[in-house]
Amino acid sequence: MGRLLFISGLIFLGWIAYRFLKNTWSQRLRDVEQNEQRAQQAPARVQQIKACTYCKTHIPEDEGIYRDGKFFCSYQHLDRYLEHEQQ
Ligand SMILES: [Zn+2]
Repeated sequence: MGRLLFISGLIFLGWIAYRFLKNTWSQRLRDVEQNEQRAQQAPARVQQIKACTYCKTHIPEDEGIYRDGKFFCSYQHLDRYLEHEQQ
């Protein structure tokens, strides 16, 4: 009788361990899948070339400055444009 209890205890523990591992693994698989999907969905960052509102020079977007939806090649041209606007 004691032996039967011991065996059912082992089976119970095995079942708990199985469930725990299954949950952990399926969670990990889900994480991996989501990461892969995210990597596929994220478009490769393309360097955009924009024209300065003041001097019309074309430069890469991340080297310029945005102000009120307008693009400038430098703070100097941003300032000059704003001065020009006020007159
Ligand atoms: Zn400029």
